[in-house]
This record gives sequence, structure tokens and C-alpha cells, in this order.
Amino acid sequence: MRPVRFTAAVAATLSASYLALMAPWTQFFGAFIWRASTEEKLVALTFDDGPSEPFTTKILDVLDAHGAVGTFFVVGHNVDRSPDVVRRIAHAGHELGNHSLGHQFRRSFVGRQEMLSDIETTQELIERASGIRPALFRPPWLFRTPRILQTVGAAGLRTIGGEFCHILEVFQPNPTRIATSTLRKIRPGSIIIFHDGCNARQGVDRIETVRAVDLVASSLASNGWQMVSVSELLRRSCADRNPPPTSPISCHVTAAKDRRPSIVHSIDR
Ligand SMILES: [Zn+2]
Repeated sequence: MRPVRFTAAVAATLSASYLALMAPWTQFFGAFIWRASTEEKLVALTFDDGPSEPFTTKILDVLDAHGAVGTFFVVGHNVDRSPDVVRRIAHAGHELGNHSLGHQFRRSFVGRQEMLSDIETTQELIERASGIRPALFRPPWLFRTPRILQTVGAAGLRTIGGEFCHILEVFQPNPTRIATSTLRKIRPGSIIIFHDGCNARQGVDRIETVRAVDLVASSLASNGWQMVSVSELLRRSCADRNPPPTSPISCHVTAAKDRRPSIVHSIDR
């Protein structure tokens, strides 16, 4: 095979794999909630890979200053290191979600029993730290296979995706760029993904994310938006008010196909 054809074939394979396994809006292996359907000015700001100090605490302070409720998808090993921060998240009225035990890609391919064990260990760590047992699971990198979706369901959890705030957020670009990208995406029912940590590591800089969340929350609050937890957003969306008989989340999937332009698109300073 000629090099150009080979490169094109590899690119096509990688693109197809990404679309099937990781793209936020893909429903290829089953229903995957990444946005809720609502007419209200409701948005869920979510934070992955924590707790990771001092950034998780700084984000809690920012949310508190703007009257916002967030959802923190925490990593089990990080919970084990900083249970006091997890307790503070819960006591401040935010939601806690399960984001795997160790945030390792290879653990996406273990057998069902091992996967259930990882999920349950993380549930126990979060419950021990906060007194709260999460109802939501977000797969690392949004990577999902039929086995992952089925196993999360068997564990009694709901799999939740979302939209990334900025494609390069983890490399910490200027906070105005992160915030502008985020606000362009937001419309009623959006679920936005920020990172207060980095996998199961500690000490990775997330200060630009903290500053971006401040800009985003300030703009949303001054434009009459409510920043609510993911569970609250789903409770107030059409599917939970009027559940269809066969699929309780088909309404969310319908919303996922709707690509109306965003409503908030500026930063108020
Ligand atoms: Zn993650």
C-alpha cells in the first residue's frame, strides 16, 4: 500500500474509532446523556479528575461566590488522598459523581467483575468521605464500550457525558479563551466539562481553569442562568417530567441532536 493511502486509512480508522467510542454526542453503543432537553436557562458545570488541591477548593470558592452548584466527578485514588476536600464538596451542596478508581485507560478493557469492583471501591471511598453515594458515573475520556455502559448500569449508576469546555483546556490556555469557548457552547440543558485535576495525579496546574470558571459563572449569573447539578438538570428536563414508556432517556438523546446556536456568547467583566 502506498504511504498516502496507508496514512489515509489510518486517519479514517482513528476518526471512526473516536466517533464510535469517545465523541461526546455519539450514541453508537447505546444512549449516552451529554445534554438535557429543557427550555429553562439551566446549565450543569462539571469538574473531572479531582479532588486536586488547591484547585478544587478554589473552584468551590468561585462557585460559592456566584451562587452556583457544580458536579464533581472524582477519581477514587484522589478521594483516598483528600477525603476532607470530598467532604467539603458535599457539605457545600454540590453533587459528587464517580469517575473511576484510577483513571487508567487499560482498566476500560478489564472483565465485568473487575470493572464492577473498581466502580464499587470508588463508591465506597466517596461514601466514606462524604456520606453520599453517587448516582452518576462518567467514564474517563468519555470512552465507552457496550461492556462499560452495561456494567455501569448493572452497578445502579447513570452514565453521564458532556461537552468539553475548550478542546485544549488541559494545556491551560488563557482563561478568556477557555471561557469564550465555553459560553459559545452553552444553551439550555448544557452539561459542560472542566478539569480540576489530571487523571489520578496530584499537583498538576489548573489555575487557568479556575479563572475561566470564574468568568463563565459570572457571565451566566448576570444573564439569569441557573447553574445546577447534573441530577437537578435531569430532574427538570423533559424526560424526567414526562418519561416516554420505552426509553426514559430518549428525550435527552433527542436533545443531543439539536444544534441550535448558543444563547450566551460573551464575557461580562
Ligand atoms: Zn477524567
